[in-house]
Parts: sequence; structure tokens; C-alpha cells
Amino acid sequence: MSIRLLKGGPVAAEIREGVAADVAAFWQEFGYTPQLAIVVVGADAPSMVYLRRILDGCERVGIGGRLVELAGDCPESELAATLGDLGAEHEVAGIIVQQPLPECIPLRAVLDSLDPRKDIDGIHPLNAGLLALGYEGYLPATAHASVELLKQSGVELAGAHAVVIGRSNVIGKPAALLLLREHATVTMCHSRTRDLGAVLRTADIVVVAAGHPGLVRGDMLKPGAVVVDVGINVTEDGLVGDVDFDSASTVASAIAPVPGGVGPLTNAILLTHLMRAARDQATHHVAVGAPSVRNS
Ligand code: NAP
Repeated sequence: MSIRLLKGGPVAAEIREGVAADVAAFWQEFGYTPQLAIVVVGADAPSMVYLRRILDGCERVGIGGRLVELAGDCPESELAATLGDLGAEHEVAGIIVQQPLPECIPLRAVLDSLDPRKDIDGIHPLNAGLLALGYEGYLPATAHASVELLKQSGVELAGAHAVVIGRSNVIGKPAALLLLREHATVTMCHSRTRDLGAVLRTADIVVVAAGHPGLVRGDMLKPGAVVVDVGINVTEDGLVGDVDFDSASTVASAIAPVPGGVGPLTNAILLTHLMRAARDQATHHVAVGAPSVRNS
């Protein structure tokens, strides 16, 4: 079976073009350029590379990007004050707080101080709750990108059996909820799942976000399955995902590879979240709207 690669780059380029036009229209309408603030507590080299990439993405479409660096041992009160100040800044439309946080700072300290209207990466309980209930809150960008890549690639989701590996709040859980919203039949797997292969062999679609290189092999897949590899692992062989590409590509019909699949799309999707937040704030819109899926 010849493998189709689901590449995020071309979809991301199209999205960025739309965002650049939106930024120009926003300036005409409201007279300022929205900004993204990225808060980093105790920066390390790999996360700085990732964050610089987000800031470059902002620059390419004319959005202002700002890095706010706090010391790894800063008190909770300093982080809270920083988030409060950014929340009050009119031109800052979106705030991302880089995770993981140092152990001395509980996530609660962020959630208590982050304005949910500026939470463009969907970590705030309000946005997580809106997603769970089927309303339009701000979505975690990577989960959103994983499902958007499937949709943009024309993969039929309604009625398909989708298996999500990973149950984190930032990727696995929201990806499962988004697939459910698209009417897939969803199974979630995690480190305690018994016989992952047996579950995967029933999947039409596999989304894997475990951070475990080589976790998904070809002999665990149903012939023709579509696989979205979200994992990012730095190994001696370079950057790899969670899928053993060589064996999986002999069984699957399509794979979103690492690198080049979900990653490039994630940053472009974040920019769309930022522009939506900017408009909502500029027009005082309450970002709830009608439920996208009615639960009976
Ligand atoms: P996380 O919080 O560590 O969660 C990993 C999840 O995978 C957990 O639910 C864990 O199960 C599950 N898991 C681990 N080993 C497993 C195994 N052997 N079998 C089945 N499930 C297993 O990680 P995350 O933040 O969700 O990130 C997941 C991956 O995505 C990482 O590689 C990360 O670098 C990558 N990532 C990619 C992007 C992108 O844009 N592509 C962005 C961010 C992160 P338990 O809950 O039972 O522990």
C-alpha cells in the first residue's frame, strides 16, 4: 500500500495568509496590532527554540510577539502579577504560559491569574469546560491542529473509529473531544491500557501523543488506517515521533509524519486563536456561542 503523507506545511501556509489579511483588516478597523505574550518561567534551551519559532510565526503575519522571561525560582506572586498585568494590557490579545512549569510553581497559580479571554492555548478550566460541553472556547492548539489536519486532508471522521493514545489535558483529552465533536467513535488509551495493539487494530484513525518513540508499529495497525503522529522525541537519530514510520507506512494509508505533520500547523492555528481573541476583546464578544454538538 503506498503511503500518503499528511503534511502540515501547506495547510499552515494557507492559514497564515488568511491571518496576515486579518491582521491588516483588524488594524484598519480598530487602529492597533494585537500582540501575543509568551510567559516563560525558568527558560531552557529546547523550549526557547520552540518559542522563538512561535514568535517568528507572529512576525511573518504582522502580529506583535513578546517573550516575558521570569526566573525559575520566582515566587508565585510574581507570576500572578505578571499575568494580571498582561491581562490588563489592551493590546495583548493572547497569553501563553510555557509548560512544564518549575516544580515550585503549581499550575493552579497560572490558572488563577490567567484571563480566560486571553487563554489562546486553551489551558484555563473555563475553556476546557466549554470544549467538554460542546461550546466554542479556546482550544489547545496542538489538539486542534491534529484534528484540523485530518479534516483538511479530507479524512472521513463521522462514524470512524478513532483511537487516541495519551490523555493529557493539553493534547490527548481535547483531541478525543474534538474527534467526538466530528462524530467519530472515540477510544482513549494511556499507559495502563491493556494490549494497546488489540485496540489499535480496530482503529480507522489513530492519534498518538505519548512521547514514546516507536510506540506504534505497523503490526498494531489496521490495514488502511490513518495515523496522526503528535509525539516529539529528541533521540540520537534526531527528532522522531511516537510512530515507527518504516513499519507503519507498510500498513497505514496515510501518516502525519514527524517532523512536518502536526508541528507546523500548530503554530499557524495558534495565530488564528489569537486573532479570534483580539476580535472578541475588541468587540466585547463573549466567546461562548451555541453548542457545536447537542448532547441528548
Ligand atoms: P504527557 O503529558 O506526558 O502525556 C503523555 C500521555 O501518553 C499520558 O496520558 C500517558 O499515559 C500516555 N502514555 C505514555 N506512555 C504510554 C504508553 N507506553 N502506552 C500508552 N500511553 C502512553 O505528554 P503531552 O504533553 O500530552 O505530549 C505528548 C507528546 O506530544 C510529547 O511527545 C510532546 O513532546 C508532543 N507534543 C507535540 C506538539 C506538536 O505540536 N506536535 C506540541 C506539544 C507536545 P498516562 O496518563 O497513563 O501516564
